[in-house]
Amino acid sequence: MNIELKTLSEIGKIKGQAGNFKVELIRHPRYIDESLCIACGLCAEKCPKKVVDHYNVGLVKRKSAFVEYPQAVPLKYCIDGDSCIYIQKGKCGACKKFCPTGAVDFDQEETAETLNVGSVVLAPGFTPFDPSKFDHYQYAKLPNVITSMEFERILSASGPTTGHVIRQSKDKREPKKIAWFQCVGSRDMNRCDNSHCSSVCCMYAIKEAVVAKEHQGDDLDCAVFYMDMRTHGKDFERFYENAREKHGVRFIRSRVHSVTPVGDTDDLEIRYVTDDGELKTEVFDLRSWTWPNA
Ligand code: SF4
Ligand code: SF4
Repeated sequence: MNIELKTLSEIGKIKGQAGNFKVELIRHPRYIDESLCIACGLCAEKCPKKVVDHYNVGLVKRKSAFVEYPQAVPLKYCIDGDSCIYIQKGKCGACKKFCPTGAVDFDQEETAETLNVGSVVLAPGFTPFDPSKFDHYQYAKLPNVITSMEFERILSASGPTTGHVIRQSKDKREPKKIAWFQCVGSRDMNRCDNSHCSSVCCMYAIKEAVVAKEHQGDDLDCAVFYMDMRTHGKDFERFYENAREKHGVRFIRSRVHSVTPVGDTDDLEIRYVTDDGELKTEVFDLRSWTWPNA
């Protein structure tokens, strides 16, 4: 295929011009020999060290010996040097002891190389907006107020609940009523300095509501609170109409005023004003929101 994947690599400098670039690459150690690893997972099973699983947005923990996610390419395990007991303290080594192919190699070090290439495609990704600053939504305090990325992982078959929608509060029960808030962290110069529309949140909120209903059944009440429904891609408007008419997702045009907990139930009371100016309160048992690229 003529494609070489250089994982755990960082760009140092790029010099040159179109057609002739020199790219300085720093490659971090995997501490596992890719050519020997058969992805059996024994190292992760035996590893005693648990750390926050960033891929699952902190909803669960992973081991220091790990693979980022089950569909990783190449499917090779890795040791997180920042948390590994052996690398940090010179003790443990369980992964090395149990690895059936002798792939664990604690002697690997950072390496540098220079690539000569004709062109460079930049795909930097993004940092999700942190909604903790919105105290009226209480994301930092209430376990059943979650971000849409957290909800994505809950919905995913490879996620911490294998796709089963459950609340993050201690009761871990299935929600019966979920609200989505749109434009949290976007189109807002008052609290977050992001005047732009992310251009993706409307559509993935609709998708999440439809998939949640597919997983939990039509009894699940899903309500999307929005400013404008921006369905600007091909057939996106039809997807929105289907969600509303076929799946019964409720769409409410309103910027929600506040979220407050209901006694010690971990339910959430939402206050909002309708299109015709009526002040309403409604109780939900889970709520997710969408945010833009920051
Ligand atoms: S135990 Fe060895 S072969 Fe198996 S996943 Fe870990 S490093 Fe790879
Ligand atoms: S040596 Fe590090 S990665 Fe290996 S089992 Fe121990 S803590 Fe886990």
